Amino acid sequence: MPSPAERAPATRVPTIIVHGGAGADPSESHEFRPGMRAAALAGWRVLSAGGAALDAVESAVRVLEDDPRFNAGRGSVLTRDGTVELDASIMEGDRLQCGAVAAVTRVANPVTLARRVLETRRHVLLVGDGAVAFARSVGIPECDPASLVTDRQRQRHAERAARSAALGGTVGAVALDRNGTVAAATSTGGTAGQLPGRVGDSALIGCGTYADSSIGGVSCTGDGEAIIRVVFGCRALHYLKDADDPDYAAKVAVDLLVEEGRGHGGLIVIDWRGRAGYATSTPLMPVAIMSPTLAEPRTLF
Ligand code: ASP
Repeated sequence: MPSPAERAPATRVPTIIVHGGAGADPSESHEFRPGMRAAALAGWRVLSAGGAALDAVESAVRVLEDDPRFNAGRGSVLTRDGTVELDASIMEGDRLQCGAVAAVTRVANPVTLARRVLETRRHVLLVGDGAVAFARSVGIPECDPASLVTDRQRQRHAERAARSAALGGTVGAVALDRNGTVAAATSTGGTAGQLPGRVGDSALIGCGTYADSSIGGVSCTGDGEAIIRVVFGCRALHYLKDADDPDYAAKVAVDLLVEEGRGHGGLIVIDWRGRAGYATSTPLMPVAIMSPTLAEPRTLF
C-alpha cells in the first residue's frame, strides 16, 4: 500500500484505459478501432487538462454509449421482448463514492445517470422507472426508447434463434488523474435475449466496476452471472494489491472467472501508480490506452 507521501499529487502520471467488451465479434474488430480511439482521447482530454479521473471515465464511456457499434446506450443488444434495458455504474476511489443504474429505458447515456446517483451521496443503485424518474428530476433528457434500437440489433434479434446469443461490446474505462485519484465506469445493454428485468454485473459495484485509489480501479465485461458469482471486480483488485502487477492480476482474475465462476470475460485495470493491465478469456476484447508517453491513443487488439 502506498504511503500518503508516495501518493502526493505531483507524482502521478495520468493514464486512461478503455474496453469495448469481451464479447466483441472478432470478425468485426476493425469496426471497433475508431470508437476505442475516440473514447480514450475523450478521457485523455480531461486528464491532460488537469481534470478529474471521474470526469475522464464518464466522458470516455459516453463516447462509446453514443457509438452504435458497442453494446451500451444506442446500439445495445435487445431483451427477449425486443426492448433495450441499460445498466451502468461509476466509482471514484478516494472516498469510495459510487453510483449505478439498472434496467433503465429512455436514457441514452446511463453512465451520466449513474454519476448523478453518485452525486446524491444518498443512494448507490436506482433501477427501472425509479431511475428514469430520477433522471427527469435532475434534468437528464429522456429519449424515445425506439431511438436506442438500431437496425443491426433488430436484425440480430430476429436471427437470434438461429445464432448463439453472442455477448457483445459492453464498454468501460478506468483512469488515474494527476491528483492520484482512480475512477472506473462500465455501461452495457446486458446480454442478447435476456429476460426483461435481468440485471448484470455492470450495475453492481464490486462486480463490474470498482475503484480504490490506494490500490487501483477495474472495469469488467463478460458473462454477468459468472462475474457476480465471484465478485470479479473486487477480487481483481485484491490480486492487484497482492501482486503489484496489473497484467498479472488481470490474468489471475480471468482464471478465477473461468474456473470458479464458470464463465468467460475480461477486465481492464489501472493501479495507483498509473500502470495499466488487461486480460480476457474471449477471442477479442477491444482495448485502447492513452498516457503522456503516447502521441495518440494506442489500440491493443
Ligand atoms: N457483463 C455484461 C452483462 O452481463 C455483458 C458483457 O459484458 O458483455 O450484462
